[in-house]
Amino acid sequence: MTVMSLAKYKQKRKFDKTPEPVGGKSKAKFSIFVVQKHDASRLHYDFRLEAGGVLKSWAVPKGPSMKTEDKRLAMMVEDHPYDYKDFEGMIPKGNYGAGTVMVWDFGNYLAPGAKSKIESEKMVKAGLRKGEIKLVLNGKKLRGGFVLVHTKGQADNAWLLIKEKDEFVSKADATKQDKSAKTKRSLGQIAKAEDKIWHSNRKK
Ligand code: MN
Repeated sequence: MTVMSLAKYKQKRKFDKTPEPVGGKSKAKFSIFVVQKHDASRLHYDFRLEAGGVLKSWAVPKGPSMKTEDKRLAMMVEDHPYDYKDFEGMIPKGNYGAGTVMVWDFGNYLAPGAKSKIESEKMVKAGLRKGEIKLVLNGKKLRGGFVLVHTKGQADNAWLLIKEKDEFVSKADATKQDKSAKTKRSLGQIAKAEDKIWHSNRKK
């Protein structure tokens, strides 16, 4: 399996100044996904999908939707390390992406029809090249079929995240569920939690 590069991710960050993870390796049986709500200079959601040992990542300004008619712009950004899936806390002022990060949703996924993690990730990588990635998400908030479609004519990194028709479709605004899927905390509570403020004596 090709190991995708985290060079861009590392270039943008100073790991003696931010608590964000540097690497990590999957030991799980299933490929994972995570959606992080990120209160940075502009509030957005980061949709991340494990493939080839890293997290393929998209910034979704409006967040995911459970309505099939919503086509949510998803700007592809640099790959993130696997351990980023657990990152919830504060990126200190002056650092890239400074602000509060919440694990808004997490779970595992399969490409429809895939029988294994390897097969599933192969299909995702083929989808990345083709410009259409089909997924079945098994999260706390997001469930069922989704598709990421590369848009033509816009910026090169512009995709759309769309819910596919199935029994999980819902008219309710998914982003109204605004607590951490991991710790049940609000963005405000995460920001206030002094225990999550990072100290510079972290082991490398
Ligand atoms: Mn972000």
